[in-house]
Amino acid sequence: MAIQAALAELSNLLGQRLSLSKSDLEQHGASETHFPLTPPDAVAYPNTTEEVSEIVKICARYGCPVIGWGAGTSLEGQAQAFSGGISVDFRNMNKILRLSPEDMDVAVQPGITREELNTELRATGLFFPVDPGANASIGGMASTRASGTTAVRYGTMRDNVLGLEVVLADGRIIRTGTRARKSSAGYDLTGLFVGAEGTLGLITELTLRLRGQPEAITAAVCAFDRIEDAVSAVIDTIQMGIPMARIEFVDAATAAAFNAYSGSDMPECPHLMVEFHGSEQGVAEQAETFGAIVADHGGKGFEWAMKPEDRNALWTMRHHAHWACMASKPGARSIVTDICVPISKLAEAVNETAADIAASPISGPILGHVGDGNFHSILLFDPSKPEEEKAAEDLAHRMVERSLALGGTVTGEHGIGIGKLKYMDAEHGAAWDVMGQMKRALDPQNIMNPGKMVRGN
Ligand SMILES: Cc1cc2nc3c(=O)[nH]c(=O)nc-3n(C[C@H](O)[C@H](O)[C@H](O)COP(=O)(O)OP(=O)(O)OC[C@H]3O[C@@H](n4cnc5c(N)ncnc54)[C@H](O)[C@@H]3O)c2cc1C
Repeated sequence: MAIQAALAELSNLLGQRLSLSKSDLEQHGASETHFPLTPPDAVAYPNTTEEVSEIVKICARYGCPVIGWGAGTSLEGQAQAFSGGISVDFRNMNKILRLSPEDMDVAVQPGITREELNTELRATGLFFPVDPGANASIGGMASTRASGTTAVRYGTMRDNVLGLEVVLADGRIIRTGTRARKSSAGYDLTGLFVGAEGTLGLITELTLRLRGQPEAITAAVCAFDRIEDAVSAVIDTIQMGIPMARIEFVDAATAAAFNAYSGSDMPECPHLMVEFHGSEQGVAEQAETFGAIVADHGGKGFEWAMKPEDRNALWTMRHHAHWACMASKPGARSIVTDICVPISKLAEAVNETAADIAASPISGPILGHVGDGNFHSILLFDPSKPEEEKAAEDLAHRMVERSLALGGTVTGEHGIGIGKLKYMDAEHGAAWDVMGQMKRALDPQNIMNPGKMVRGN
C-alpha cells in the first residue's frame, strides 16, 4: 500500500516523467555483470534539484527505497533495486552549469557523461581526466569513486571533485566543499559522499577540477614473453617516478580477444599499453627512459601511436576490452572483479592470480591499470553450468583474499555494491561499524539504496 501511495504522489509531481513501463523497469534492474534482474517499482526522471528533493521527501514519507541511476555501468550491482523502490535516473540533469577556464574548474549536473563533458570542453584547452572506459555519468563516477586508465597520473574521482550539492534522505539540500583547491574547514563531507554509492544521499551537482590538455601526447604498445616481465617493468617504471599518463597491462587472452573483436594483430602474449603527457621534450625523455626499462625486462615490438587517430584506436580497443573478452566465449556471463595492491606486491598478486585461473576449468582474461597496483579479471562462465559459475566465484574470492593478505583492498575502483559487501568486515573491521553509524545518522529510515555498503542494511 505504501508504495502505491508513494507512486500516486510521485506521479502528481512528475507526470510522464515517472515511468512504470516494463522495459524501463527492467533496464533499471539490470547489470553489466552476473547479478539477477531486480527491477525497481518505478523510474523517476527529475529535471531539477528541487524535484529530486521532493522525490526523496515523498519516498521518506512512505519508507520507500530511493536508488540513484547514472549510466548503469557499475559492475557490482550498485544501482540495482534489490528491495524495489524508485530508481532516480539523472539523464535529464546533464548540463554544464558553470565553466571557469581561468580557475580550471567546472560545475555540472550529475547526469552528464564523461564523454559529453570532454566534448564540451574541447575548445577550452582543458579536459576532465578521470576515464573509467565506459561512458559513465559524472554522478555515478563520483558515487563509485571511479578511476581508470589515467588515475596513475591524474588521480581518481576523490582527487578531482572539489565540491557537491547533495539531497539528503530527509530531502534537505546541502552543499559540500567550495571552489578552493584546498580547505581546512571541518569534516570532509565531499569525501564522504564520493564513493558512498548513493547510500547517504543523491548528488545533484558537482564542482570538478579540470586539467590542461598536454602539449604533447605519445602512446605505445610493447610485448613481453611472460607476465612477470611486464609487471616487473611496471614496478620499476613507477618506482623510478616516471610520470606515466597511462600504463595498462593486458594478458595473452586479452590480446587474443582484441584481435578477434577489434581486428588488431597483436602477438598473443602479455602487453603493456602506455601513454605519456607533457612537453615535446618531456614526453621524448619519458619515452626513452621507459624504453630502457622495458628492454631490461625483455620487452619488444614497440609500436608507437603518435597521431591522434592512432591513439584513439588504441584506447578505444582497450576500452572495449570488457566486450572483447565477453565475445571470446559466446553466451557467457561474467564475474568482473578488481583488486588493488601496493605496487611492490603487484607481481606476486598478478602471477598468483594467473596461475590460479590457469589451474581452473574456466577462462579469465587479466588486465588492469597496473600503475596503481590495480588489475581486473573477467571470469567467464557458462550460465547453464553451475560448476563453472562456482569456479568463477571461488577465483574471485581468492583474488580478494590475496589482495588483503598483500596489504591491498578488495576493490580498487569498481566499488562494493552487492558483490563485495561480504568483504567489508575483513577489510575494515571496526571501522565498518563506524560507517554503519554514519549511515544511520544520515539515513535513519534506511531508504537511500538499502541493502548496500553497511552491515545489516
Ligand atoms: C566496460 C566497462 C569498463 C569499466 N571500467 C572501469 C574502470 O576502468 N574504472 C572504474 O572505476 N570503473 C569502471 N567500470 C565501472 C563503471 O563504469 C563505474 O563504476 C562508473 O563509475 C559507474 O557510473 P554510472 O554512471 O554508470 O553509475 P551507475 O552504475 O548508474 O551507478 C553507480 C552507483 O552510483 C549511484 N548513483 C548514480 N548516480 C548517483 C547520483 N547522482 N547521486 C548518488 N548516487 C548515484 C547508484 O545508485 C549506484 O550505487 C567499467 C564498467 C564497464 C561496463
